[in-house]
Amino acid sequence: MLVPNVTIVGSRGTLAVDTGMGAKNGQAVMREVEKVSKGPELYLVAPHVHPEHDLGAGGFPARTKMLRSKEQEADIQETGLSTAKVANFSPAIGDLLQGAEFRKADISFEREQVVDLGGVRARVMAMGANHTKSDIAVRTLQDELQARYNRAQMASAVRAAYNEAQ
Ligand SMILES: [Zn+2]
Repeated sequence: MLVPNVTIVGSRGTLAVDTGMGAKNGQAVMREVEKVSKGPELYLVAPHVHPEHDLGAGGFPARTKMLRSKEQEADIQETGLSTAKVANFSPAIGDLLQGAEFRKADISFEREQVVDLGGVRARVMAMGANHTKSDIAVRTLQDELQARYNRAQMASAVRAAYNEAQ
């Protein structure tokens, strides 16, 4: 099963977003991550705690640093086991999720955590209740600079148009 995995690559480390369902899919994601990685550090984020996005974390190597927001950790405590009951949906899903557990956080954060990957910094943000009670979003700081740059350009275009109209 493919998942919309996003991988952010820096010179020193790589951040993978989304795990796939079960260790087998986590390993498949990891193989792809290895192909693009440039540095030894490895970070992992589950965008939310549903099994197909979180319970593949066991397929990632021991050196992986799992990031979780405090609210995601609380959500797992509260609803994790019932979420894993998805395993009962079909024998195939049950197979995939056999032995799957929510991976413990290596880095646990309140509102956000900036991860320096070497030349690229990722901002990992707790988004509160969206699709689940504890969604997480990831942006690179480059994205934010680009957005700011676009806004600045827009503002200067508006000013130029305004001045022209005077
Ligand atoms: Zn979901």
